[in-house]
Amino acid sequence: MSPAKPSLLLLYCGGTIGMRQDTRTSALQPELSIDELVEYAPLLKSEFHVKTQTVTNLDSTNIQPHHWSNIAEIIAKEYGNFDGFVVIHGTDTMAYSASALSYALGNLGKPVIFTGSQVPPEILGSDAVTNMVNACLAATMDFAEVAIVFGTKILRGNRSMKVSESERNAFISPVFPELGSIRLQPEITYNTITRRHGGALDIQKKFAGNVAVLKIVPGLEPRVLDSMINSKIDGLILESFGPGNIPNQECNLLPAIDQARKMGIPVLISTQCIYGTTRMYLYEVGQSVMDLGVIPTGDMTPEAAYVKLKWALGQTQKSKDIEDIFARNIAGEVTIPD
Ligand code: ASP
Repeated sequence: MSPAKPSLLLLYCGGTIGMRQDTRTSALQPELSIDELVEYAPLLKSEFHVKTQTVTNLDSTNIQPHHWSNIAEIIAKEYGNFDGFVVIHGTDTMAYSASALSYALGNLGKPVIFTGSQVPPEILGSDAVTNMVNACLAATMDFAEVAIVFGTKILRGNRSMKVSESERNAFISPVFPELGSIRLQPEITYNTITRRHGGALDIQKKFAGNVAVLKIVPGLEPRVLDSMINSKIDGLILESFGPGNIPNQECNLLPAIDQARKMGIPVLISTQCIYGTTRMYLYEVGQSVMDLGVIPTGDMTPEAAYVKLKWALGQTQKSKDIEDIFARNIAGEVTIPD
């Protein structure tokens, strides 16, 4: 093996990037193997030492938390053998998986790049090869993050959201700067964490608990929340209005939240504003909820907050410990106010 070529491990999880249309229904479904996919970009094998490994081959709608653990486990096992890692994954739940990996791989010293495509490789005009090649190039660069490389963007994984089901730039990083962009080549423009040579990963790959997420809407009857709370959940995320506001008059949801807290269920309050952050002290309708002992999610994306709660529940059931985990910035997912 020539030492000059960077070595990359491509982990395959599926997604549109490996799909074909069913001849009868014309629905897209997982079909190609990772080795068939890599054949579409022959330069990859001449420029890099590429090894492939299949984690699964699923529409990412069917990716589960045990797949996140599995990807983390493989990266931990192969960590010393490669310069970078590329995770090929469907776009629908990519931001969840990338968030999961960012928490699971503590002390990360190399790039772990997620990518996929909007259009399958066998359809004219596909973005599959471009995205895969750019992800591989990014995985050789001098930064150490779990990132999403897609279209013309390089984004921190746990700050990313899928916002378009068809545009080539399917992801945005609404409240955090983009790490870089794809110009003639991928370029890192944000002053991010650089590679660390040596040093072991601190892997924490357990994700646990039943976490319910409920979007607050006008007219939401408290009994809906009551039944959720009484259905053996371990954590609750309420997507509130504005900076953390929840109805406390007609359709008052506070008694149900109070009950959840008394049952020991951690209750997170996030914002429905994708460019926003929680500021629960701002309005009376936020302060009254804060008094019940809830955890505001700050400027985390809904994906990053959900996965962080699953990760926290993988380590502890104690409310105080969960609060402590949410008070910390684990992998650049949140801005902690001074
Ligand atoms: N449904 C597909 C998936 O998430 C969409 C895609 O990959 O773009 O697997």
